[in-house]
Amino acid sequence: MGKRGPKPQFIDIACPNKACELYGLTNQGTVVGNGTSISRGEKTRKYICRHCGKVFNDHTGSVYYDLRKEEHIIDLALKMSMKGMSEEAIADVLEIEPATVRRWLCRAAEQCDKVNENFMKNLNRIFFKLSGNLFTFNSMNFFL
Ligand SMILES: [Zn+2]
Repeated sequence: MGKRGPKPQFIDIACPNKACELYGLTNQGTVVGNGTSISRGEKTRKYICRHCGKVFNDHTGSVYYDLRKEEHIIDLALKMSMKGMSEEAIADVLEIEPATVRRWLCRAAEQCDKVNENFMKNLNRIFFKLSGNLFTFNSMNFFL
């Protein structure tokens, strides 16, 4: 087979490897696409940092990292919080402990403390993700 063209670069994606010189930096041109995979019915884009060789995906380094199983329910908790619901009310709706809700919100807030350009981009991505689920949320709300 002939040579494939240059791999697409993802200039708004930063390397999540803390040991990498380019950790957290965007626009370095070193992060390239590395295919996609299907996880839990969702298509996940995979990346590789050509600087350190780290392979990662859309979820790596996000607020949901380590909490992927709970991702959907955390989405709901964050949305309800944004709508002004108390931790107790959110816990009640989701049938979980208020302490768990608090832990998730703290985790999200920790991410929010990192005020830098790169974070703002991630934040936009989180809000985009949230608004993408808004219809589901509203229709669920309707039936409650
Ligand atoms: Zn790297």
